[in-house]
Amino acid sequence: MSEMNQEYIVISGARENNLKNVSLRIPKRKITIFTGVSGSGKSSIVFDTIAAESTRLLNENFSMFVRTFLPKYPQPDTDSIENLSMAVIVDQKRLGGGSHSTMGTITDISPILRLLFSRAGQPYVGQANMFSFNDPAGMCPECGGIGRRLAVDMSKALDMSKSLNEGAIQLPDYSVNGWDWNMIVQSGDFDLDKKLSDYSEEELEQLLYAKARKVQMDFAGKATNITVEGVIEKFTNKYIKQDVKLKSERTQKAVAPYITEGPCSSCHGARLSQAALRCRINGHNIADLSSMEVGQLIRVIREIDDPAAAPVVKSLAERLQHLVDIGLDYLTLDRETDTLSGGESQRVKMVKHLSGSLVDVTYIFDEPSVGLHPRDVHRLNELLRKLRDKGNTVIVVEHDPDVIKLADHIVDVGPHAGSRGGNIVYEGSFQGLLEAGTLTGSYMKRPLHLKHDCRQPSGYLPIKEASLHNLQNISVDIPAGVLTVVTGVAGSGKSTLINDVFLSQHPDAIVIDQSSVGVSTRSNPATYTGIMDDVRKAFASANKVSPGLFSFNSKGACENCQGLGVVYTDLGFLDSIKLPCEVCGGNRFKEEVLAYHLNGKSIADVLEMNVEQALDFFQLKEVVRKLQAMSNVGLNYITLGQPLSTLSGGECQRIKLASELYKKGSIYVMDEPTTGLHMSDIGHLLEIMNRLVDAGNTVIVIEHNLDVISQADWIIDMGPDGGSRGGQVVFEGPPQQIVQAELSITGKYLK
Ligand code: ADP
Ligand code: ADP
Ligand code: ZN
Ligand code: ZN
Repeated sequence: MSEMNQEYIVISGARENNLKNVSLRIPKRKITIFTGVSGSGKSSIVFDTIAAESTRLLNENFSMFVRTFLPKYPQPDTDSIENLSMAVIVDQKRLGGGSHSTMGTITDISPILRLLFSRAGQPYVGQANMFSFNDPAGMCPECGGIGRRLAVDMSKALDMSKSLNEGAIQLPDYSVNGWDWNMIVQSGDFDLDKKLSDYSEEELEQLLYAKARKVQMDFAGKATNITVEGVIEKFTNKYIKQDVKLKSERTQKAVAPYITEGPCSSCHGARLSQAALRCRINGHNIADLSSMEVGQLIRVIREIDDPAAAPVVKSLAERLQHLVDIGLDYLTLDRETDTLSGGESQRVKMVKHLSGSLVDVTYIFDEPSVGLHPRDVHRLNELLRKLRDKGNTVIVVEHDPDVIKLADHIVDVGPHAGSRGGNIVYEGSFQGLLEAGTLTGSYMKRPLHLKHDCRQPSGYLPIKEASLHNLQNISVDIPAGVLTVVTGVAGSGKSTLINDVFLSQHPDAIVIDQSSVGVSTRSNPATYTGIMDDVRKAFASANKVSPGLFSFNSKGACENCQGLGVVYTDLGFLDSIKLPCEVCGGNRFKEEVLAYHLNGKSIADVLEMNVEQALDFFQLKEVVRKLQAMSNVGLNYITLGQPLSTLSGGECQRIKLASELYKKGSIYVMDEPTTGLHMSDIGHLLEIMNRLVDAGNTVIVIEHNLDVISQADWIIDMGPDGGSRGGQVVFEGPPQQIVQAELSITGKYLK
């Protein structure tokens, strides 16, 4: 291999998904940005080819023994990939982890802060783990380090006016004749027909709070030793003393109505033992510092001038600075990670890598600009540069022109989506892209137009004196019957205002968000949009058989995979792996069902069509209408049978948008609907929003995208900054006026 070639990751003959046997070179230790319309094949190159191969190579480093436990990663469909280094994917998957995972723990800043208190705190307490709420030595003994105390909501758990036989205990597991109910009955200790309100105090104590004890019971004629426990005692041990967030979603949902919460009465939410909380530096204890916004915390840390702590102070300040640099200065270290948005989660992960010492890594980012106001995009760019300058290769999939500008190298994939994409239409510099005449290149040059003829509101939806999170007691009128865009820098309070405050007053609003839409593993775009029902009927009448035959959960479905087309193999401690079904070969139906045709195609053929192909194939009015709606939101390339679980957040949001019936008089709320959309697709999205408004609805959109902001009827700009320096409305009005508003940062970017 020549010297020069080692400067590039070289990919030859890539054919994953829609890729047309493409070859390309990605310069190492540079920033390469992949652009192109949604569905053109960016992810197929970056994730399904490059990242997949890196994972596979990594697994080959394990011993044969370990490898037998790992899923088999097949080689991506490509002739060769050379010079690949280890790939790290920094995505927008939310950081879960229950209430013990905070910003501080996930960024590894908390351990350093604890070290600081063990060195410089007064009075001296001892070792660093005395300050950890995850360590028995440091945690508040009352709440186990959770900071909140949960308790059973007795008014919901019990109906005192009923007897046990009438179902007085309303907790899950205790329904009459249910397992736990039977245990109470079997214990023989209680009067089953007496109302709970007639129980003596002792009887109630015994029923509700008795400690676990072994009792011999008679089950089907056999004497058996069974543990019995008071009803509330048992529920508390099972769902409250343990972190319920670690249980299944179904269990969480089932028990949630019976649990109420308040701050822990001992530590008042600080999570730590009293000894740890008495220890202070410059008057602050560790809980004070953890609840301070990072922007302020960094100043407090820099003021510590204890020589014994100097190295710790330095490393702490360095890491906090990374958080400031990436625009997360409005967050606090004690913020639980599962309350962070997708964009915030991604930026937190990024900080973790910046502080790490890995070099010659290939970092892969998926649309890192999500959630960032144009003002903050340059901060993201600086961080990407820093990663590169440490000697790493940075690969980014991105639609935001301000990020694209930063690339050392651009790969434009297209020209269109799905089968009409899959080629590299341009490789080279940003300047070259502007001249190249590709869709991306020409959209980059297009000027912004501010909307002139803004619609007049039909009324107002008032928000009064909102003060949740950082909102500064604000009142704002949201106009009805128009398109309102709520914008502002990250952390200014947009989601708090709309998703938390507004939606709590308007529970009838229709929220079109990015959460996944899968109802079952068999759901796909055809079932979700209702197209499948019409298709089944068409197949049935063409072949004079029952429509049920063509359903995934009927006797027509392949029995081996139950109509899934794939079989999941559980590997115990790892994610389960998915293999194509051997019986139907992924066709999902029995052979006899596949023999029925509609205009020459089997039901499996139809499910393999993408929206665009299906539009050519079908003439049925209802089907065409639904397909057209998907096409309008830029989902031409999605296949009808693609499992919904494989769709990205942005695609989920758009498929929901496409399946909305255009009702009149509804309120629609959307959070960053341009996510995953190429500039050329944003026009379609705007058309749909406008159609919703024209049909008599109110549309409220949280957005940073300037094309969308400039086309609003009404703009609400939050700011001026993030966190405690935000939470105000800095501008309300039409686009033509925002450019004149002194205080509006958004206005400056629209000029
Ligand atoms: P982009 O990242 O540019 O939005 P993708 O690489 O995700 O595009 O998709 C390119 C094409 O490959 C699309 O037609 C898409 O539907 C198809 N595709 C992507 N992932 C899969 C998959 N897992 N199975 C089948 N088709 C897929
Ligand atoms: P935006 O949507 O403009 O990015 P947010 O409404 O998410 O802003 O955040 C506004 C402020 O409220 C920030 O300081 C943020 O840290 C805080 N915040 C948001 N959600 C929560 C939460 N669940 N718990 C505590 N603070 C929160
Ligand atoms: Zn406590
Ligand atoms: Zn099968």
